[in-house]
Amino acid sequence: MKKVLILGGTGDAVKLADQLVNIPEIEVISSLAGRTKKPSALVGQFRIGGFGGIEGLAKYLQENAIDFLIDATHPCAGQITINGAIASQIAQIPHLMLVRPQWEKLSGDNWIEVETVEASAQAIPDVIKRIFITSGRQQLEPFLQRSQTYPDTWYLMRSIDPPDIELPNSQVLLDRGPFSLEQERELLREFQIEAIVSKNSGGAATYAKVAAARELGIPIVMVQRPAMPEGDKVTSIEEAIAWLNSR
Ligand code: NAP
Repeated sequence: MKKVLILGGTGDAVKLADQLVNIPEIEVISSLAGRTKKPSALVGQFRIGGFGGIEGLAKYLQENAIDFLIDATHPCAGQITINGAIASQIAQIPHLMLVRPQWEKLSGDNWIEVETVEASAQAIPDVIKRIFITSGRQQLEPFLQRSQTYPDTWYLMRSIDPPDIELPNSQVLLDRGPFSLEQERELLREFQIEAIVSKNSGGAATYAKVAAARELGIPIVMVQRPAMPEGDKVTSIEEAIAWLNSR
């Protein structure tokens, strides 16, 4: 029996766990940070909460005799990915990063590419008055600051759980993807959105807003992914399973 720890928090992590539990020689444990109140249903064992940095994760790997670490966290979750890479070296176990390909700009896309969510709030052109924030409920501070400079801007904020910060002049939509192109087109029209803030998450579940923005000529302030550590990487669940099988 081999033990696999999946660092999760994404739909890909759920799908990977779903497939691994069917392999008799594998015991799978999924780990969540605990940010979402009602996470997607996970099969197999799971644990919730931070490990306590690199040392805490390395200790967890050693104490629980984990044989393989698979990082299937969101591509913008930079800290846990660095922690996973270093902790697996300390624990001397094989480590894989499952990273969905990022979205590439197509003809007709109007992207303003920035490094951070902080930069995204500053990069929104002054003339834009109706902004759709999809970059996460936990990084709203930069928009709060922006709203002080531009009090006449209105924000639509979409997240799975309610945000801790309430933006003045805003509306919150609680929803979880996947979203269809029809839904996104309708939403952009209904709320007369003039710009979108998004992370370059990649994957199909939240791509429809990018396609709808292209159709409607709406700019996207696109937050780039953080740099990833060196190490084994795959882009699909099938490849992740093949990586495990090869070991
Ligand atoms: P982060 O900045 O990379 O991580 C911050 C801390 O959260 C880590 O140091 C770790 O705490 C804990 N943590 C993160 N992922 C964990 C996991 N799977 N299991 C246990 N502890 C975890 O991450 P983040 O951007 O805050 O994202 C938190 C979680 O939400 C991630 O699991 C990610 O997959 C998911 N998520 C993130 C985004 C995003 O845009 N960032 C979007 C969708 C989903 P300790 O140091 O104490 O171990």
